[in-house]
Amino acid sequence: MPARNILVINCGSSSIKFALINEAHSHFTLSGLAERLGSHDAVLHWQRGDEKGSLMLPDGDHRAALAQLLPLVQNAAGGTLHGIGHRVVHGGEHFTSASLLDPQVIAAIRAIAPLAPLHNPASLLGIEAALSLHPQLPQVAVFDTAFHQSLPEHAYRYAVPEHLYREHGVRRYGFHGTSHRYVSHRAAEIAGLAVGDSSWLSAHLGNGCSTCAIVNGQSRDTSMGMTPLEGLVMGTRSGDVDPNLHGHLARALGWSLEQIDAMLNKDSGLLGLSSLSNDMRSLEQARDQGHVGATLAIEVFCYRLAKSLAAMSCALPQLDGLIFTGGIGENSPLVRSKTVAHLKLLNLALDKEANARSIRGVGGPIQAYGHPRVLVVPTNEERQIALDTLALLH
Ligand code: AMP
Repeated sequence: MPARNILVINCGSSSIKFALINEAHSHFTLSGLAERLGSHDAVLHWQRGDEKGSLMLPDGDHRAALAQLLPLVQNAAGGTLHGIGHRVVHGGEHFTSASLLDPQVIAAIRAIAPLAPLHNPASLLGIEAALSLHPQLPQVAVFDTAFHQSLPEHAYRYAVPEHLYREHGVRRYGFHGTSHRYVSHRAAEIAGLAVGDSSWLSAHLGNGCSTCAIVNGQSRDTSMGMTPLEGLVMGTRSGDVDPNLHGHLARALGWSLEQIDAMLNKDSGLLGLSSLSNDMRSLEQARDQGHVGATLAIEVFCYRLAKSLAAMSCALPQLDGLIFTGGIGENSPLVRSKTVAHLKLLNLALDKEANARSIRGVGGPIQAYGHPRVLVVPTNEERQIALDTLALLH
């Protein structure tokens, strides 16, 4: 059978990120972004090898962008596209794995939308447009939350009244599941261990950040909760704060719920701490020049990350390795070394040179000789979505 081609689509409310993946190749055959959809400036950008192109789509919506994109995809795929994989953020308790899209699955994604009011409706726009343009093509939804449906109840329940869980789904779901799953499989391959017989701590550190404890191929705990705001310090998200902060800001400053939500999601994290930037690269440069806010933001980021990893270790029977991934995890020797320095009780220590070398797509082991494994593993969520889609085509 010739190697198959899968288009992976990730829709935001006004954007579509896409990648065409051939199962035999690690690089993307075609990739790009449609942005500002629904506005006069809507535009589609794509890249195929060294070739780049753009097309204006004035007032174009998701359907218009996909209608322009799909012929490009068919062409790049040599005329044979085998399926489409859609990234969907929230699968609630309904989805424990990827699902072939049909009217029941679409209805279930819609029913879960109150838990992800910004994300799931955007995914549905892309799903409905792609299905209407290509009704014969198998299409699959791959959920960020599904990998974490194996959390035991003591890890996913909040200590709030039971009816809030039973009637309103108030529980921890976790996100970044596609990435944690992909890198834990890669880590097992690199270490020569079986996925089904190994235990990992994983830190996905991008604009959003989360940790995960993975035992025998299953997520056992994770730092994000009912929403992606819980847990670590992130680019613009606060991560954990005292839940009473909401009441305090409302009472003391008269802030509305919308103001508090916006502050915690958009003005906090590395940006809020540094008063400078949400971007780790810029903060590292500013720290080198003595910027006090940038220095503090990095310290808090690494300490909170180490604290979360230590907490996650409660879910492991043994530690086969700690994995760093995501833009920061794959590229910042500074963050890795500061974080690991807080984890001496887990006996973790890094090899300075291996840590410095592991950037820009170079992965592998970075632990000091005789210490537990620490791996840098470049993530590839698109490839994992393509693999999940392919698995359902049989
Ligand atoms: P992602 O969301 O996975 O693309 O990750 C974005 C984050 O990775 C941003 O905070 C970037 O500043 C950070 N990042 C990318 N390259 C580097 C680098 N060379 N050093 C430090 N942080 C980096």
